[in-house]
Parts: sequence; structure tokens; C-alpha cells
Amino acid sequence: MSAGKRINQLLLLSGGLDSWIAWHYLDRPACAFININQRYLLKERNAIGALCERYETLEVLNIEGPDIGHSECQDGYIPYRNLYLVFAALPFSSRLAMGGVLGDSEDDNNPTFPNTVTQFLAHFGRNQKATLEGPLYSLTKGEAVSWYLRNVGDVESLMLTVSCYSPLPGPCGCCKSCFRRWVALEINDLTDNFAQSPWLAPVAEVQKERVRRGQFPEKRAAETILAFRKRGICIA
Ligand SMILES: [Zn+2]
Repeated sequence: MSAGKRINQLLLLSGGLDSWIAWHYLDRPACAFININQRYLLKERNAIGALCERYETLEVLNIEGPDIGHSECQDGYIPYRNLYLVFAALPFSSRLAMGGVLGDSEDDNNPTFPNTVTQFLAHFGRNQKATLEGPLYSLTKGEAVSWYLRNVGDVESLMLTVSCYSPLPGPCGCCKSCFRRWVALEINDLTDNFAQSPWLAPVAEVQKERVRRGQFPEKRAAETILAFRKRGICIA
């Protein structure tokens, strides 16, 4: 893809479950993969490469973003991550889209984030009217997977996506991101080759506690409870 001309719509593609589903949900727009020197960069690149091999229409612009990997926290959180991604992509398109689902609650990944960014950007860029859209924020991760199964149905490609903060190959099953992937797949009767069973990993105890303390939005809590129940674990 030529970086010389402005692209009508550009989806920030991470190689994860959400942005892969968002690509289909938005009727397959052009995509951008941004290198921010994250720990799991190689895994994400490999996933996108494998998806590109299966879908000729998947056009991915590779952008060298700022090196913010060194500010990555142990749990995979990178402060301002999605803001950096937006600014790295803005030179190529003023109509951006990102993955992200209902139940996401990081400061730069939640249902109000796209609108907050759009309002912020309105103060800059002369008359560009840059926008950020998050089409999946009306669906939980489980509902997004369900939508994908009903409307796309390509399970093999879904399984090529990676949502894991470990730099090691494959889904570790121990990180927060693997746990959420497990919940979304489990309630849709799918599973992944997790190195460790997420529902038995230490991360599961943390998630159980968060459900019990009411720290998750209602639907996310319900999906988490259901996934545990399917493994014979009652948490509420
Ligand atoms: Zn993981």
C-alpha cells in the first residue's frame, strides 16, 4: 500500500481478536500495524502476516511508531498506548478506527475513548476533522466473537489472532489478555491452545475477585461467571 496518499478509513490492527473482528464489522477497510516496540511485537506481526496470507483483501500499512515499549508495565499496560497509535496513524488518514469492546476499562481503551479523542482532535489539524471510531464498543468480547461466528464464520483465522502479553510464542494462558480471550472463546464453545489453562492460572483468582467486588461492568462479569461455570467452577 502506498503511504503517499490519504487513506479513506484506517483501522488500527493489532493482530488480536477485537481488531480482526472489527475489520470484518467495518467491511474490511485498510489497516495499519504500528510498531511501538511492544514485548509481543513479533507475535502480533506473525499473526497479521498469517492473516494476510489468507485474505488478499487485507491491506496492512506498516508504520514505525514511537518506541514506547520501555514504559510497558508488567501486566502489559502501556501508558497512553492508544493515543500514540492514533497520532502515528493520523498522517495517513483522518478517519481512524480501533478495536476495543464493551467491558474494556483501561483509560485509553473504553467505550468513551473514541469520542473523547475525536473531540480533542477537533481543536487541532486546521479543518481536517479527524475522527476515531470504535465500532465494537457496543458489544462485549463474547458478543463480538458471536457476531463473527454468525457473519464471517472463519474460525481458523480467528485462531490465528493473538491476544497475549507474553513475548513467548503462542498464548501463555497466564496473562490478563489470555484470560479475556479464554472467556470470549469459552462462552462461544471455542478454545485455544493455551500453554496453561487460564481458568486455573493465578490470573483467574484475580479475575474472580474482581467479579466478586463488582469491579467489572455487568455484562463482562456475567460472561466471566458463565465461562467459569462451563469449566465447573462456581464463583458467584
Ligand atoms: Zn497470555
